[in-house]
Amino acid sequence: MMNLVYYRKKEGKMYDKNNVFAKILRGEIPNKTVYSDDNVLAFYDVAPRAKVHVLVIPRGEYTDIFDFTQNAPADAQVAFWCGVRKTVEKLGLRDNFRTVANTGRGAGQSVMHFHIHIMSDERFTEDF
Ligand code: AMP
Repeated sequence: MMNLVYYRKKEGKMYDKNNVFAKILRGEIPNKTVYSDDNVLAFYDVAPRAKVHVLVIPRGEYTDIFDFTQNAPADAQVAFWCGVRKTVEKLGLRDNFRTVANTGRGAGQSVMHFHIHIMSDERFTEDF
């Protein structure tokens, strides 16, 4: 599969190239990598809110799930979800994890580079 990093969106919210995940992708900020390929990077959340808390991000520049699903090429979207699956498998999770995509400030999105939280914790059996 060709490298999809060089695709860029034609429309959508302005992407801030200085957001923290962009800096991680450029290697300017360290990360604890779980999984990496040409399209995806998965790394441990610096402030975990579950026993396992990992973030998966596309290497392309998309602000949120709307931007990603509207503007990323189909093969980039497939590659992203394959990366999510590979990350989950690497973590040894199967029927005991959550995926969350906070979207917009109103839902607590603090980093405006699309990302999926993968979280696993025993307390999730009772928590909402
Ligand atoms: P959200 O609030 O959905 O935008 O999620 C952003 C997540 O990024 C939060 O859970 C933060 O703890 C996490 N985060 C922020 N900076 C870093 C970093 N340098 N390395 C890893 N995770 C980070």
